[in-house]
Amino acid sequence: MTLDARLAYARRMDRADGLAHHRKRFQGADGDVVYFDGNSLGRPPVSAIERMQRFMAHDWGGRLIRGWDEAWLQLPTEIGDRIGRSVIGATAGQTVIGDSTTVLLYKLARAAVDAQLARDPRRREIVVDTDNFPTDRYVLEGIAAERSMRLRWIRTDPTGGVTSEQLAAAAGPDTALVVVSHVAYRSAYLADAVELTRIAHDAGALILWDLCHSAGSVPVRADLWGFDLAVGCTYKYLNGGPGSPAFAYVREDLHDVLRQPIQGWFGTDDQFEMGPAYRPVRGIRRFLSGTSPILAMLPMEETLDMIEDAGMDAIRAKSIALTTFAIELAEEWLAPLGVRLASPADPDERGGHVTLHHDAMREVTARLWQRDVIPDYRDPGGLRIGLSPLSTSFEEVHRGLDATRTCLREVLAERAGLG
Ligand SMILES: *Cc1c(COP(=O)(O)O)cnc(C)c1O
Repeated sequence: MTLDARLAYARRMDRADGLAHHRKRFQGADGDVVYFDGNSLGRPPVSAIERMQRFMAHDWGGRLIRGWDEAWLQLPTEIGDRIGRSVIGATAGQTVIGDSTTVLLYKLARAAVDAQLARDPRRREIVVDTDNFPTDRYVLEGIAAERSMRLRWIRTDPTGGVTSEQLAAAAGPDTALVVVSHVAYRSAYLADAVELTRIAHDAGALILWDLCHSAGSVPVRADLWGFDLAVGCTYKYLNGGPGSPAFAYVREDLHDVLRQPIQGWFGTDDQFEMGPAYRPVRGIRRFLSGTSPILAMLPMEETLDMIEDAGMDAIRAKSIALTTFAIELAEEWLAPLGVRLASPADPDERGGHVTLHHDAMREVTARLWQRDVIPDYRDPGGLRIGLSPLSTSFEEVHRGLDATRTCLREVLAERAGLG
């Protein structure tokens, strides 16, 4: 197809898009910037700006310390329950907003391996893959050192992810815990959550799902799929803002079995009695530690309004249409220049972003940023295009891929000139 026919197609898709009206609810989405990094830091919802001002003036400014009793103490579980209901398929009382993803990973993974070691001291292995997100790997290395355990590495293909066969071969009577990302941050590979959970359980292991790249982009059914534990970011597809706190899911029957390692006063049953000893409160609150970052929890509620309005199934359908369109343009325009797809071609195996490989992509990314086209770059040679379904249009995808072609041609021409 010619460029014009592709553009006409993009505009037709935008007109037919049932979620298109959400786009103008994001700050800057009507401007000239092509934003391909909503999977790293989502755009701010316009209503969050007002909400923050109102909160500063009336809630904080007017209610002062009374705000804690009147509303704020309940926010971590209130917003947690909304994420549970609307985003990750968890019934109430199992999801809470806590610390960063890194800290929540530590708390849940440490609690899980301690419970497993108490039950069976031979379970001294934690299974994780070599291409899992760095912080996940580092946290688990630390826990293994603290508890004299071993990491059992699954070697993943960086253009794919953890398969059932690989997990079945790695998990066994030595396994305490398995940690997997639902959507791989590099390739967007979508793991078979039902099957991997079943394999971990058959081996007698617990499984902790990292939902950072799926929450708000791919539907999750934590209860139905039998998850034990999960964590996820809120500043990616949930548009919570830089550093907004993460969520943790702990299946109800594990609450009493797990003892989390950062025991603080926000997780006790007598918080304001200032008692002599730590006594964990019943339920999901026991996974809290210290004072909750209330300001940083507000913007994500505006996105949750939109997700509840749109529904995760419609969001996923648009996500697939966006990534499919990006791949079609890449095949037509970029493959002849030597670019290859470093994400699964099958949409059922792909999350919300697309990674395109070429050894010139670092330079291409720098040029794109200068032109207000904002993807990101991941070694080796990966241009990562994150397509946030509520705030991205098909025309934006068209403009971004067109600019990528231009920049790649420039870089290749300069290289040829040098040679
Ligand atoms: C973004 C991301 C994180 C980030 O953890 P932070 O503690 O928020 O820095 C962790 N895991 C995965 C899979 C991610 O994509």
